Amino acid sequence: MDFSLSEEAQKRIAMSRMAAEAMMRPISRQFDEEEHTDPWDFFNAMWEVSKGNQQAAESFTGSKKDKKSGPSERTLLACMQIEELAWGDAGLYLSIPNPGLGGAAIQAVGTPEQKQRFLGNFYDDKPRWGAMAITEPHFGSDSKQVATTAVRDGDEWVLNGTKIFCTAGERALVKSDGFVVVWATLDKSRGRAAIKPFIVPAGTPGVEISKVEDKHGIRASDTAVIQLDDARIPADNILGKEEIVEKGTSGFKGVMATFDSTRPIVAASGIGVARAALELVKETLAEAGIEIRYEAHPKQMTVLEKEVIDMEAQLQAARLLTYKACNMMDRGERNSREASMAKANAGAAVTHITQKCVELLGPLGYSRKLLLEKWMRDAKITDIYEGTQQINQLIIARSILGYSSSELN
Ligand SMILES: Cc1cc2nc3c(=O)[nH]c(=O)nc-3n(C[C@H](O)[C@H](O)[C@H](O)COP(=O)(O)OP(=O)(O)OC[C@H]3O[C@@H](n4cnc5c(N)ncnc54)[C@H](O)[C@@H]3O)c2cc1C
Repeated sequence: MDFSLSEEAQKRIAMSRMAAEAMMRPISRQFDEEEHTDPWDFFNAMWEVSKGNQQAAESFTGSKKDKKSGPSERTLLACMQIEELAWGDAGLYLSIPNPGLGGAAIQAVGTPEQKQRFLGNFYDDKPRWGAMAITEPHFGSDSKQVATTAVRDGDEWVLNGTKIFCTAGERALVKSDGFVVVWATLDKSRGRAAIKPFIVPAGTPGVEISKVEDKHGIRASDTAVIQLDDARIPADNILGKEEIVEKGTSGFKGVMATFDSTRPIVAASGIGVARAALELVKETLAEAGIEIRYEAHPKQMTVLEKEVIDMEAQLQAARLLTYKACNMMDRGERNSREASMAKANAGAAVTHITQKCVELLGPLGYSRKLLLEKWMRDAKITDIYEGTQQINQLIIARSILGYSSSELN
C-alpha cells in the first residue's frame, strides 16, 4: 500500500507542523495550567488556517470513481495533519474552531439544505465551533440507552434531557454562533431505531451549559454538560428521516458511520502526542551522550535501547494501521473494522509509550519542568472517547467472527 501524498498535500502537512511549533508548543503549558481560559489569539489565527484548509480540502475530494483525479487523499491528509497538530498540543488541537464531530454528522446524513444552512457559510464570520452530544449521565458506551427526548410540536421539536462530556460544547453554544448535534429518542420503547440526531443552534432558548469539566488531560479543550429544558428547534433540524424504521442508513446508523472517519483521526492525534514524548526522550538521552545503537546485535543492546526501539516499532505499527483505515476510506471502501483496529491499537500504544517515556526520564519525566508528564495525561483520552478500547475490540471481534451487536456485547 502506498501512502505517499501529492506535493500539495505535503505542503499542507508542513504548514500544520509549522503551526504546531510556532503557535501551539509555546502556549501548551499555560493553557494546561489555566484550564477554562480561552486562547483567543490562537483561535483567531487557527480560524484563518482552518479557512484555508477548508478551501484546499475541496481539491482533495476526488472519488474512487474519478479515474482522472485518482482516489481521494482527504482522510489520509487529515490524519497526517492532525498528527502534527497533536504533536504541538492535543488539547489545543481539539480547541481549533471548526464544525467538529457535529459537522461530520451533518456531512454524513444531512440534506443538501441542512449542509448549506449549517456548513455552507460556516467559515464566513468569526471563529465558531460545532460539536456532538451523545453521552448522558447514565451511559456512554451503550448508545441505545439515549434518554433525552424529542417530541414533535407543530413545526418544532421540543428537546428535554442532559448531555455530559461534550467536547467544545460551551464554545459551540455559548462562546460562538455554532451548533451541537444532539442525540435524542422519539420513543424509548423502540430502541436504537427511534434515536435521531438533531441540530441545536447556539442561542436556542432552554439550552444551558450547567458545568464545564475539570479534567486530567487535554485541559485546553472544553468539555461541557448541556441541559436541555423544553428546547425548541425547527422541525427540519432533524438529521435523517422522522419515521422510525428498523433498517436503513439514515439517522442513527448514518451518524454512527461517521466514526469510520473520526476513529482514525483520534488515533492520529494520540500518535502525535506519543511521538512528541518519544522525540523528547531521545533528545534528552542524546544530550546525556546516549545514542540508540540501532545496528547493535539485540544481545549487545542495553534495556534502554530495546525499550526505545520497541516503542518506535509500536508507534509505527499504530501509524500504519491508521493510514490503512484512512486509505480505505479515501478509496470508498468500507473500513469500520480497520477504523476500530486503528483506534484500539493506537490507544493502547500511546498510553504505554507516554507512560514509559515518563518512567525512562525518572523524576525529570514526572516533573512539570518538561511537557512529558502532560503528554502522559493527554494521551489517555485516545483510549476513551469515540469508543473505548474495549468497545473497539468488541467491534473488531464482531466483524471477524460475524456476530451482531446483540449476539456479542
Ligand atoms: C474528555 C472527554 C471528551 C468527550 N467528548 C465527548 C463528546 O464530544 N460527545 C459525546 O457524546 N461524548 C463524549 N465523551 C464521552 C465518551 O465518549 C464516553 O466517556 C465513552 O463513550 C465511555 O463511556 P462511559 O464514560 O459512560 O463509560 P462506560 O460505558 O460506563 O464504560 C466504563 C468502562 O466499561 C467498559 N465497558 C463498557 N461496556 C463494555 C462492554 N460491553 N464490554 C467490555 N467493556 C465495556 C468501557 O470500555 C470502560 O472501560 C467524552 C469523554 C471524555 C472523557
